[in-house]
Amino acid sequence: MTIDAVVVGAGPNGLTAAITLARAGRSVVVFEQADEVGGACRSAETTLPGFIHDLGAAVMPLGHASPAWQELPLAEHGLEWIAPAAEFGQPLDGGRAAIAYRDVDRTASTLGPDADRYRKVAGSLVRDWERLRPSLLGPLLRLPRHPVALARFGLRGIRSATGLTAGAAGDAYPALFAGAAAHSVLPLDRPFTASFGLLFLALGHTAGFQYPRGGAASISRALASYLGTIGGEIRLSRPVRNWDDLPAHRAAIFTTGPPALAAIAGTRLTERRRRRFRSWPYGPGAFKVDFALDGPIPWAAPGLADAGTVHVGGTMEEVAEAERLVAEGSHPERPFVLLAQPSVADPTRAPAGRQTVWAYCHVPNGSEVDMTDRIEAQIERFAPGFRDRILARTATSPSSLEAMNPNLVGGDVGGGSYAGTRLLFRPSASLRPHRVTDSIFLGSASTPPGGGVHGMGGYWAARAALSGPLR
Ligand SMILES: Cc1cc2nc3c(=O)[nH]c(=O)nc-3n(C[C@H](O)[C@H](O)[C@H](O)COP(=O)(O)OP(=O)(O)OC[C@H]3O[C@@H](n4cnc5c(N)ncnc54)[C@H](O)[C@@H]3O)c2cc1C
Repeated sequence: MTIDAVVVGAGPNGLTAAITLARAGRSVVVFEQADEVGGACRSAETTLPGFIHDLGAAVMPLGHASPAWQELPLAEHGLEWIAPAAEFGQPLDGGRAAIAYRDVDRTASTLGPDADRYRKVAGSLVRDWERLRPSLLGPLLRLPRHPVALARFGLRGIRSATGLTAGAAGDAYPALFAGAAAHSVLPLDRPFTASFGLLFLALGHTAGFQYPRGGAASISRALASYLGTIGGEIRLSRPVRNWDDLPAHRAAIFTTGPPALAAIAGTRLTERRRRRFRSWPYGPGAFKVDFALDGPIPWAAPGLADAGTVHVGGTMEEVAEAERLVAEGSHPERPFVLLAQPSVADPTRAPAGRQTVWAYCHVPNGSEVDMTDRIEAQIERFAPGFRDRILARTATSPSSLEAMNPNLVGGDVGGGSYAGTRLLFRPSASLRPHRVTDSIFLGSASTPPGGGVHGMGGYWAARAALSGPLR
């Protein structure tokens, strides 16, 4: 029997692709090499019993904003979003912090002399958000439905993060912007890095930096559970290494990286395409530490105790320097640390009174340097007494990330570098970036709209298959 579609990978994109196909009445089987679904969207007790840590993604503004998921009855399958009182913060020396709240004015009030400047930038982002959302979460190379809003975003977004905030009167606004822009995993003086800052600020003021109750795995479980109810099948512990590992099908959707697809599809791809996919550039890796704490992080700055996410790196200059060093292949003494403290809003993540903390910093791809001390020192700098709260810690190196999930090549969390025009052209400059051949599609983080837990790459790949071989 020929299955309509096979999907390789049961991460957020693979599950969303399968759901999109099953909802359209097509038969679909998902192949996953791990023994559970979720990919980089999973959780486990990695430190002490009762402390639930996210193995990959932890903060889900993109998931909460995902147009594909808003259509799905995921709440009926256990997904509950939780909003922390503050979206994200950036501590500064001297017990100060810039803090992004859902409300623009309240955020501006933490930015001292740049409050008006911030209101102007963030105000237009919020006004345009619903017009921007479909473009920013889809292939950018298509006719935009709202060209004026997109042009307004693009004129700012094409700049570097340092350039966009140059001329600020204080250090708080650039620092807040640096933390948001550093999600690009690029030196912050590079073009297009401002677009990451603008996107994450817009998300903070609209969808919010929300968490799934119970951890990232709740999203994956809800997607898998819903897929089961609409006829989709998931086969776990089934790595796809060769084409022969797949049953007969009319369309194949891969949510691997381009090199893995090239290796599996072989001569089904043109020689030119295989060469390009094999040399797909990966960006820096992540070195991650999960902490079990005996209480909240003792942040010096008031307000950070309420923030679900804290970008720990100091001023714009410091964050830019840290990311520059990583891009050059070095390990910064003071790394930029992305930190999530989900326990501030989700009591299910740790025993009563205790907290889980998730933190990682960028390192050169494939690095084997242990960054645990440097991550702890950065947090301690802005939260004296943090180390005394640690009950247990588990560090995960780039190679351990890749061992858990082959998509995380060298610890790259974003499915490939965003340098140059890679933000726009993933995996290549094409009006149909998710279509690889007439029957092979790619829907991982290496396709638009890129990395993050949102499922949109899988959604667009499935849509491409539905308008092609599965029409
Ligand atoms: C440490 C870390 C922190 C992150 N933080 C965030 C965050 O806070 N917020 C956010 O939105 N995003 C975050 N991300 C990024 C986000 O998790 C990914 O971009 C997202 O999971 C990509 O989804 P995907 O389905 O394309 O791939 P994945 O989630 O990587 O899933 C791919 C799946 O395919 C399977 N697979 C691969 N090859 C094969 C094969 N040959 N055969 C069978 N199965 C295969 C893998 O086992 C995996 O289950 C983070 C990632 C990491 C690693």
